[in-house]
Amino acid sequence: MKFTVLGKSPAWQDAGGACSGYLVTEDATAILLDCGNGVFGKLRQFHDYVDVGAVFISHLHADHYLDLFPFAFALLLAPRQQPVPVDRWPGTDSPARPLLYLPPGGYDLLRQAAGIIGLPSLIEDAFEVREYDPESRIEHGSLAATFRQVPHYTETWAIDVTDPAGSRVTYGSDCRPNRELVDFARGTDLLVAEATLPRPERSGERGHMTPAEAGEHAAASSAGRLVLTHISDELDPEWAVAEARGHYGGSVEVAREGMEIDL
Ligand SMILES: [Zn+2]
Ligand SMILES: [Zn+2]
Repeated sequence: MKFTVLGKSPAWQDAGGACSGYLVTEDATAILLDCGNGVFGKLRQFHDYVDVGAVFISHLHADHYLDLFPFAFALLLAPRQQPVPVDRWPGTDSPARPLLYLPPGGYDLLRQAAGIIGLPSLIEDAFEVREYDPESRIEHGSLAATFRQVPHYTETWAIDVTDPAGSRVTYGSDCRPNRELVDFARGTDLLVAEATLPRPERSGERGHMTPAEAGEHAAASSAGRLVLTHISDELDPEWAVAEARGHYGGSVEVAREGMEIDL
């Protein structure tokens, strides 16, 4: 399978960047992990959006789901999705309608969010919406996804994707340091771990990790390689890699939009 970074910014975008979004493809199967602000335009740079069969959302923070809105408008309004010929598009009786797997409770929250713009059914009109059972294993095409709750400011699930050859990518979503992600990612080929913070939070509940802590998680889970993500372009990537390497001896890179990793 191929893992492509579409967006890697934290809650505020890099210059010209996008928030969380990762494409996983294997043969004809394409799934999207998170769809934060800016991700839909990046998806269009790298893959045809009508060929994305399923979208999985790790948690309902805006930087992980906001571009479901433009994605939905495309699915409903794009000329190629219409039943009659429009411009160069011949018309279709079977417009794309990807599956959208939301965390438990996500259906109601997205209805509320879409209601603010007067279109409460926007998301369910465009996608086939389901809430995933975090205990389940969801097979889509040739890929399979499983979930593990990780501690963050809201209910959040790490997502592991496996291909038929057994290759794995484990996306940790947003989380403070924790054992759950270490156990979930144990033996994974690629750990995609957030490295938001230049140093741990100075007060209050923790919700994110530093690059050094991401390195600790990669080492503890014996991950094959580590990609640091959810990290601002206002932090030095070489510093971040060095911090992670202080704890982990494997390959470490900072995510870049367009970065492709074959597993
Ligand atoms: Zn978050
Ligand atoms: Zn986030």
